[in-house]
Amino acid sequence: MIISGKDLSVRMKAEMAEEVKQLSEKYGRAPHLVVVLVGDDPASVSYVTGKSKASEALGIRNTTIRKDVSISEEELLGVIDDLNNDPGVDGILIQLPLPKHINSDRVIAAVRQDKDVDGFHPLNVADLQLKRPCTLPCTPMGVMLMLKEAGIDIQGKRAVVVGRSNIVGLPVAKLLLDANATVTIAHSRTKDLASVTREAEILVVAIGRPKFITADMVSEGAVVMDVGVNRDPVTGKLCGDVDFDAVAPKASVITPVPGGLGPMTITCLMRNTIDLFRRHQGE
Ligand code: NDP
Repeated sequence: MIISGKDLSVRMKAEMAEEVKQLSEKYGRAPHLVVVLVGDDPASVSYVTGKSKASEALGIRNTTIRKDVSISEEELLGVIDDLNNDPGVDGILIQLPLPKHINSDRVIAAVRQDKDVDGFHPLNVADLQLKRPCTLPCTPMGVMLMLKEAGIDIQGKRAVVVGRSNIVGLPVAKLLLDANATVTIAHSRTKDLASVTREAEILVVAIGRPKFITADMVSEGAVVMDVGVNRDPVTGKLCGDVDFDAVAPKASVITPVPGGLGPMTITCLMRNTIDLFRRHQGE
């Protein structure tokens, strides 16, 4: 079974558009997402455009603040301070990566926790660890929604997450653990990775290596979630971390790239924006 993030996104967005309409009527304004983009990295510009289009389609107000790559950290912190203090702003997203002369950790921590739409703020990270209500990072949230969509009962399953980044691997592992999976986290220093991934009933891959997970690394009937977004070095086309054509016949469920977790990430960003808006209205 191929689980389309595109289809699930379309359904979720239709529901959210209706929700935004009702909320806007009730509170006299629409939820407002502000994206801060520093520099003109083409991939970042394309992501920001995607976020802006998705917001527009749902009736969410979107502002993109573009700053020159030479902006100082202090100036950027000033921009964030203004947004933090603006009651008309519900979500603040700092498009990463930031230029090297800027300390990303400091900038992310400067966003008010209740406007941290990406769930990257240290207090949101801590709340996730402590199983408190929090804004979840979008891609991990997308993984969990896709598993739900596929009707996977996570409890008691052996899950392997390949990748341990703060924005994908670690939070996915925590969410799977909270859903009562038995979780192994693998990474670049894992010995005999194939023997670890073959143990997985649920395999989540977020490493950033095109088609790295081959058929021999996946057990028959596994559920495979491919987070990777890469360019195939041979064809130049978008591809995941999983060799889809080889792995799909073995997997019971698999997500494609493109059209898998990519669209879900943006959809979850919209979900978070609406939830923060509701919170700002005292709901
Ligand atoms: P990072 O580069 O931050 O982390 C990569 C992780 O993969 C690290 O933990 C690294 O291990 C591990 N890794 C790298 N090479 C190997 C290897 N050969 N074997 C085992 N583990 C390895 O990446 P991100 O988590 O930010 O992103 C991962 C992928 O997901 C990328 O392709 C990215 O583009 C994509 N992505 C997609 C999103 C979407 O919307 N669909 C959103 C975010 C990311 P170690 O810690 O030891 O270095």
